[in-house]
Amino acid sequence: MLDALRARSVEKLPARVALEGRILFLCEDAGLVRDQLAGRDLAWTPAIKLRDDISTDEITPAYICYYYDETLGEFPYLGLKCGQEFPITRGSVKRGGFAVSVSGKRRGKGSSREQSPYAEMCAGVKLVVAENIERIYRENCQNLGIFTTTDFGILDKLRRREEIPLSTFTDGEGEITRGIIEYGGLFNYNVARLQGKVVLTPPAPRAAKRPMTLGEKILARHWVVDPSKGKIGVPAVKPGDEGFVLTDIRFSHEYVTPMAAIFFEQLVGKDAKVNDPGSILMFRDHLTFLPEAMTPERIKEGLLDVALELEKKQRAFAEAQGIKLYGELRLGHHGSEAICHSKILESHALPGQVIIGSDSHTPHAGAVGCVAFGVGTTAIFNSWITKDVRLQVPETVKVVLRGRKPTNVTAKDFMLEILRHPYVKSGKAIGKLVEYCGDAVESLSVDERATMTNMTAEVGGFTGYVAPDAKTVDYLMEYRGMMRDEAERVMGGLASDADAEYCEVIEIDAAAIRPMIALPGDPGNGLHIGEPETRIKVDIAYAGSCTAGKKEDMDMYARVLREASERGTRVAPWVKFFIQCGSQDVKRYCEERGYLDIFRQVGATFLEPSCGACINAGPGVSKTRDEVTISAINRNFPGRSGPGQLYLANPYTVAASALTGYITPWEPPSN
Ligand code: SF4
Repeated sequence: MLDALRARSVEKLPARVALEGRILFLCEDAGLVRDQLAGRDLAWTPAIKLRDDISTDEITPAYICYYYDETLGEFPYLGLKCGQEFPITRGSVKRGGFAVSVSGKRRGKGSSREQSPYAEMCAGVKLVVAENIERIYRENCQNLGIFTTTDFGILDKLRRREEIPLSTFTDGEGEITRGIIEYGGLFNYNVARLQGKVVLTPPAPRAAKRPMTLGEKILARHWVVDPSKGKIGVPAVKPGDEGFVLTDIRFSHEYVTPMAAIFFEQLVGKDAKVNDPGSILMFRDHLTFLPEAMTPERIKEGLLDVALELEKKQRAFAEAQGIKLYGELRLGHHGSEAICHSKILESHALPGQVIIGSDSHTPHAGAVGCVAFGVGTTAIFNSWITKDVRLQVPETVKVVLRGRKPTNVTAKDFMLEILRHPYVKSGKAIGKLVEYCGDAVESLSVDERATMTNMTAEVGGFTGYVAPDAKTVDYLMEYRGMMRDEAERVMGGLASDADAEYCEVIEIDAAAIRPMIALPGDPGNGLHIGEPETRIKVDIAYAGSCTAGKKEDMDMYARVLREASERGTRVAPWVKFFIQCGSQDVKRYCEERGYLDIFRQVGATFLEPSCGACINAGPGVSKTRDEVTISAINRNFPGRSGPGQLYLANPYTVAASALTGYITPWEPPSN
């Protein structure tokens, strides 16, 4: 495959580009949008208010993302709200012949969902103009070959049908971004890189040693110096360095794999083989329970059939490529072999590795001291070719937790405390490496550390990690079957230098933390339980997900529920309580310890592993706005797990609340 790509013709775009097509202004006035769709060009002036804050959810609502090919071109902006109306209908943008899409502030807010710019591209959009554009959305546009600009002066030139200088889009960009734009997208850029047409300027600091954080050290070890000669690793990197790093593991799930597979088949070749399939993993985890959660209306529209195609496409691609797929259970009931993050940590990640995944909670694996981070579809697809991924070295934030935590406080409470810290809450940790340390972190098991690194996604960090230590050695011996000296050797040199530079150090007293909840709407809405003045009655308790479906989480649920069982207490009659493991390994662990019997005795419903309720796609979701859920998952953004009120809490609290029917911290029995 690499030889074929090296022989392929790839050139930079011309110095001036023609962007032929109409201009679509996404205005607040639904009538103006409808007029444009009907064929009338809008004589826009700044007096006409453009829509601000257009999120990727509005560009392609979640159910649209069940489509993964050019069909997406039928759907851009279907969720766009103008006043109280949704003026854009299926196919109307494509039929309108628009090449340019214009909006106001913060274009592309929200998830890293690459279906959004891809849907725009497939509908004919070549240029996005907005007052400002969110980083990931902008990067995804560039990767796909869509131009972006914040210069509204371009509109007059387009109306005069002038060709636009390519430099309009590249001026002020870093070397790699500039190259990606000039080659019309990440794929062409990477082909040029494989051919040696792109030679990155080695930044001077890379030659010189400097004190580094653990995250920086791992990136330096993986820095791609010369891909044609396989030269990897530099003595040092520093924040701001831009380049590519070699990955050890690349994984994706059924929401993303099919689109990446389409890109691969179309751009590389239907019969081409991915580079090193042994280091690629795929997962069927997000939507296995969807048939139980989708509304009858959506099923009638055919969306369930569309969603089921995601599983089929991923399975066919994995089989054809010889890629290991952790698939759906074929036992006559729903469920998955494992949630991606759970399995990567349990069976694959090693200290010092670089891991990329198609999911924002990829930092989960940082619990064993690796750099693991989420990327978009194009980056995953390109990594199947090059094995590497583009990045800019972030600054590092150190979060130090000291002191002895109370017994009923867990890593989840640590994170809810961190998430309400002003530095984090104000967004300053966005895009940073987050290093968790201090004796309170060292005292945690690897499972509990994973709750922290997982929720680095909620912090907004690039990734989170805990430096490997004696607990990591024990974990590797137990989970990977390593000998002690082998595990210790893997960890060699994996610690931050004493004089490493941090952009911020956050100190937290773990002894002062009490069991917490996050109020509905945002994981940053943390309070100690009891701070809200009224008791909060719950209808649903959910104990599961990648964050809270690990063995130690099950130990916590079982501890509370065993006490209840011994007292003859059951789940409150008005509460539906669901417990769901992160993997079949965790389920086996529960079986061996008799946990499943305990769960049954108290009236909890045990579910096979899967994402399910965590992504509004399985048992445990709320059905109405009034329903109240207490949940151990990682985020409670509006609509995340149904339309109801979703409170976050630690596993002990979730189990205790299921029993009392009100949000209740678990109180350990006094001896
Ligand atoms: S359990 Fe939830 S947070 Fe974890 S991977 Fe699945 S959907 Fe994402």
